[in-house]
Amino acid sequence: MPISDRPLIALSSCLAGEKVRYDSAHKRDRWLMNEFSEYVDYASFCPEVGIGLTIPRTPIRLVHKDGDVRVLDVRDPSIDVTDRLRNFAFDTVPKLEGMSGYVFKSKSPSCGLFKVKAYMENGHPSDTPVPGAYAEVLAQELPDLPMEEEGRLCDDMLRENFVNRVFVYHRLLKLKDEGLSAKAIVAFHSRHKYMIMAHSQVAYQSLGQKVANLKGIDLDVFYLEYRRELMAALTQRVKRRQHVNVMQHLTGYLKKAVDKDDKKEILEALDDYKRGDVPLVVPMKLLSHYFRCHPDPYIGDQYYLNPYPSSLKLRNNV
Ligand code: SF4
Repeated sequence: MPISDRPLIALSSCLAGEKVRYDSAHKRDRWLMNEFSEYVDYASFCPEVGIGLTIPRTPIRLVHKDGDVRVLDVRDPSIDVTDRLRNFAFDTVPKLEGMSGYVFKSKSPSCGLFKVKAYMENGHPSDTPVPGAYAEVLAQELPDLPMEEEGRLCDDMLRENFVNRVFVYHRLLKLKDEGLSAKAIVAFHSRHKYMIMAHSQVAYQSLGQKVANLKGIDLDVFYLEYRRELMAALTQRVKRRQHVNVMQHLTGYLKKAVDKDDKKEILEALDDYKRGDVPLVVPMKLLSHYFRCHPDPYIGDQYYLNPYPSSLKLRNNV
């Protein structure tokens, strides 16, 4: 399947507004369906309906049992759907090929990606939250695919991080789809250099060295290793001082083009951002403005300044 121009994202069906929950309700997510949907397409999955459970149905829950976590019917704990959910997840893995992310419904015993409430066998709540049975398998099988829960996407930093990873992953898919060559990999890496530097100096050094030594390398194997390291690096949050460091590097490219007052204006914006007085969008816009007035072909190609559609306004609150 050729990779389309818009990222395709997998989504828990109830977040898309489908009435598939145990109580026949939905949990339509406004940001995903009204705003993010302007830039991405969705494919929805409901594992509970997928394994044949009815709508409505008796709820299920996670239970610590015999050293495992089982998904049991709340009213009749002899009904155990764990293996069916896990198998459904394994069957879903190939269907996610060509997709650039997955947004799961939080707190669900099937779809919850992180801390879902679990119980002991005696029915008391357990202190140990666990992932949902379906999401856990997908996270293990597809460790590079950007994944998040809709609840965590209310956090501006996490939302920005997730969206950035989705667009990078989509570009990685296109890179592969268009045919791997050393030249294309070097060009891809070159355009992401400052973004990687912001997230992780270690990955910046390591990936840079690897991309500089592509001669005689199996590019398909390299692609998978590169993707693994890149996506792991981009999962890391970027601290203000790391953004400031990268923006100082970018300012260096304007050294000969701007006068003393312009440089002072940029450095003041960086200081304001570093102190937390203004959001990231302020120094970024200023830098973009100066690079528009004094174009530099290398910086103009950097995804760091334009990682995803700016109309999403994700840098206004980070
Ligand atoms: S959380 Fe997952 S399993 Fe539950 S209704 Fe939504 S899509 Fe279906």
